[in-house]
Amino acid sequence: MNIDLSGKTALVTGSTAGIGHAIAKGLAGSGASVVINGRGQDKVDAAVRKLEGTGTKVRGIAADVSTAAGCKALVAALPEVDILINNAGIFEPKDFFDIPDEDWSRFFEVNVMSGVRLSRAYMKGMLKRNWGRIVFISSESGLNIPVEMIHYGMSKTAQLSVARGLAQLTRGTAVTVNSVLPGPTMSEGVETFVKDLAKQNGQSVDEAAANFVKQHRPSSLLQRFASVDEIANMVVYVASKQASATNGAALRAEGGIVNTIA
Ligand code: NAD
Repeated sequence: MNIDLSGKTALVTGSTAGIGHAIAKGLAGSGASVVINGRGQDKVDAAVRKLEGTGTKVRGIAADVSTAAGCKALVAALPEVDILINNAGIFEPKDFFDIPDEDWSRFFEVNVMSGVRLSRAYMKGMLKRNWGRIVFISSESGLNIPVEMIHYGMSKTAQLSVARGLAQLTRGTAVTVNSVLPGPTMSEGVETFVKDLAKQNGQSVDEAAANFVKQHRPSSLLQRFASVDEIANMVVYVASKQASATNGAALRAEGGIVNTIA
């Protein structure tokens, strides 16, 4: 299968690092014209430079997608996209009894409202042009709610609900809206977390990573962290023209942690 996205413009939110950057690289490698997004101009410029030489047009727009003003500025700079990847997201382990209201709101704004606002801005154009792809980067934590960060789980389940609801609006068109559910993935954010864990426990980073999966995700069939490219491969496929019959789906790339068939 040859995935060819030439002629399509893709926006990947939160793509200066981690899973988002790998998705941007994958889409650019498939011929799409890619827009990198992050909050700071310096990081955005550096992320664009990293993708130079992939053979396609890559540019960057700095905007904080967790705010209405940030989304508005982003849409003003980029009025139309064919592929929207709602990837920007935050996580932080915290005991339920210590999570203040502000954290619940912040998780909802960053992880859910960013995708809601950008879908509202871009989806009508996709429907009018009769082609488009929206992908929400949710998580296995949207199904298996992690007790160490219930607010994160809530935000990831909410994304599944929004994605499925939006898919209902695409009936009879060539627009699709899906979610992808990664499991533990070695992104920059997670690498920092694992390095801290290794230091705390006097282990090597590899040992800490292996122990984390065994201890905290014992049902994992993969028994290791996924790489960011393993997640990006699934996302690039869902964004492709070939994935035209996949719509309203929650697609798992979580190494088999969730012990159900569908
Ligand atoms: P990361 O922390 O490595 O990278 C996140 C990116 O988002 C960074 O570029 C950061 O600058 C950007 N970002 C954060 N807040 C932003 C904002 N308000 N506006 C614009 N950009 C912003 O994260 P990651 O691990 O690659 O996670 C990416 C997505 O994948 C998240 O939605 C996360 O919930 C999901 N996910 C990650 C894992 C994992 O184990 N890494 C597992 C399941 C799901």
